[in-house]
Amino acid sequence: MKVFPLACSFDNYSYLLVCEQTGLCAVVDPTEAYPVWQKAEGLSVHLTKVFCTHHHHDHIGGLADLLDEQPDLEVYGFHSDEARIVDMTHTLRNGDSVQIGEQTGKVLHSPGHTSGSVCYHFDGHLFTGDTLFGGGCGRLFEGSPEQMHSSLNKIQALPESTKIYFGHEYSETNMAFAMTVEAENPLVRERFNRVKELVKLAFPTAPSTLIDEKQTNPFLRCDSPLIRESLGENARTCSDVEVFRLLRERRNRFTL
Ligand SMILES: [Zn+2]
Repeated sequence: MKVFPLACSFDNYSYLLVCEQTGLCAVVDPTEAYPVWQKAEGLSVHLTKVFCTHHHHDHIGGLADLLDEQPDLEVYGFHSDEARIVDMTHTLRNGDSVQIGEQTGKVLHSPGHTSGSVCYHFDGHLFTGDTLFGGGCGRLFEGSPEQMHSSLNKIQALPESTKIYFGHEYSETNMAFAMTVEAENPLVRERFNRVKELVKLAFPTAPSTLIDEKQTNPFLRCDSPLIRESLGENARTCSDVEVFRLLRERRNRFTL
């Protein structure tokens, strides 16, 4: 399978998933229709499916236009979001399989950002929507810190070489935040410099890899003594979930 990131709107990413054996493709989170058509046409591949990670408008904004042009498109999303993604044709549950051409993916329910958030896992590729970002994680609009922490733990159980395709280009701000809590970690510093350089050159920082996230993303590092130290006296001995909650609160207030 080949994956093409499509920069959309202000800072969103849609992804075109192409099965090279069959020439069929799917789009993850169509923010806008035009970049999807343009890429599919340029590659001479045939779009048949849409995989939605969650119902937020900036992830499904292009759906109506896509369906106007191609009413037979299959639209997938988590079953509890059926009323919020009105064009959904196929409802998904945790552990379900999805197919694009000869490529099979698995659905991983990852509540926290929203209750119906899912990630799609195709051999070596994980599409995380607004659950896991480069160096960060989504805001908790409809979930508790426990839920998001547990969703991120599910992701961490995947192979470390897994490529992470996230829904927004927030890596620079996220890594600037990571520097406020773990600047003494040389890998955090190195990644901060790396993403700054990429953003300056207008290159996408996606995909990252799971190992990269585990080594530098504070939200996957709640057991780090350096992070706990930076969060204050009480954070030295509290639970990982409590560290996660404190980090998320700080990140909500952080701007570049
Ligand atoms: Zn969202």
